[in-house]
Amino acid sequence: MMTCDELRTAGTVAVVGAGPAGATLARLLQKKGFTVKVFERDASPSARPQGGSLDLRKSAGQLAVDEAGLTKTFERFSRIEAKEFKMLDSNGNPHPVGDGGTHEDAGPEIDRGDLRQLLLDSLSEDTVTWGQNVKSVSSSENGKWKLEFNDQSSFEADLVVGADGVNSKVRPLITSIRPRYIGMTMVAAVLKKELWRNSELSEILGEGSVMFADNNQTIFVQRCSKDLILLYYSMVVEEDWPKSEGFGIKDTDSVMKAVKHAYKDWSPSLVEMLTQVDGKLHRWPLSVMPADYTWETQNGLTMVGDSSHVMPPFTGKGVNLAMLDSLELAKSLTADMTLNVDAALQNFEKRMQLRTLKETGECLMVGKSIYGIHVDFSRP
Ligand SMILES: Cc1cc2nc3c(=O)[nH]c(=O)nc-3n(C[C@H](O)[C@H](O)[C@H](O)COP(=O)(O)OP(=O)(O)OC[C@H]3O[C@@H](n4cnc5c(N)ncnc54)[C@H](O)[C@@H]3O)c2cc1C
Repeated sequence: MMTCDELRTAGTVAVVGAGPAGATLARLLQKKGFTVKVFERDASPSARPQGGSLDLRKSAGQLAVDEAGLTKTFERFSRIEAKEFKMLDSNGNPHPVGDGGTHEDAGPEIDRGDLRQLLLDSLSEDTVTWGQNVKSVSSSENGKWKLEFNDQSSFEADLVVGADGVNSKVRPLITSIRPRYIGMTMVAAVLKKELWRNSELSEILGEGSVMFADNNQTIFVQRCSKDLILLYYSMVVEEDWPKSEGFGIKDTDSVMKAVKHAYKDWSPSLVEMLTQVDGKLHRWPLSVMPADYTWETQNGLTMVGDSSHVMPPFTGKGVNLAMLDSLELAKSLTADMTLNVDAALQNFEKRMQLRTLKETGECLMVGKSIYGIHVDFSRP
């Protein structure tokens, strides 16, 4: 069995996925002298839109950014003024639960794409291989793990870390538990620019974000950088919607007709204002892993971020928890270099499992109070 020092001096770490978790881990381990390779299925960093703005918490995402030595770069891209958050009802009036405000742990906002890019830019050249879709992971006779890619090529590593999100290819080697669809999909859209400039909505929004909430439904409006306003409509639909209705997400007219129908009991003028969209729509089916699941540590194999504990964005912490996992995994692997790698993985996983219990539990409670969602894990 390898020690952490042997892994650092003579071994290779393979990270599957170059999202925020994978890129953070690669950066932190490279800083400590490990040889790290990241395999990402996207053809390039700009292959697909990276979503909206994220609040990087002081006690989580920002700790990882600081440890990565990227605080100054982060400050260049982040927006402290975007922390402002309001909650309104379906008529645009103050919501009975309060104005949202902000909380002590809230950090500046940063676009998800900018965050990922600043992490990627910090890696040594050729760390990430783009367009490498991991098809399977298996153990090799020499005690290493073998990654096989869609193009039939393969790669062997002493430690494999699954940072490959909700449909992880690494997770099935660790646990048979799978994420469960919660019965809700978010439709993401961009608001037409010419409509919101100097508009009532722009005034309501200020520099931050607004959640319109009523009848177990929400429309979340978020100001991002580059003059962009994103909208997320919550839709109680089948997991494969809108295919299940006979149309695709690219059919903007049909999707927006379904959105308007879902919000027919809201103020018509508000819904009209919030459905003036531009460009492509995206669907984001929400799923969750159980809060209390645990597993036995595997030799040289672990996972971080959404692959381990995907949860809906109800508490807005997904990216923060992903980066915190990577920070703690890197710390575990470097705290005592004489420790066996598996003991370091076990220390890390125990902490992550405890955190998941608390965070997923809180997320599901928020889901129940705002959306009336109850996820039944006992159902097959
Ligand atoms: C479009 C979008 C918008 C979001 N908006 C918010 C938000 O506003 N607030 C919030 O809290 N959370 C949001 N989230 C969730 C949050 O971003 C996640 O919790 C966070 O990104 C988790 O990071 P991760 O690195 O663990 O996983 P991911 O970000 O999912 O990254 C996984 C990476 O692995 C790659 N990958 C997957 N499978 C393979 C494979 N087989 N081989 C190689 N590579 C693979 C993927 O292409 C991806 O780059 C959003 C997620 C998405 C996708």
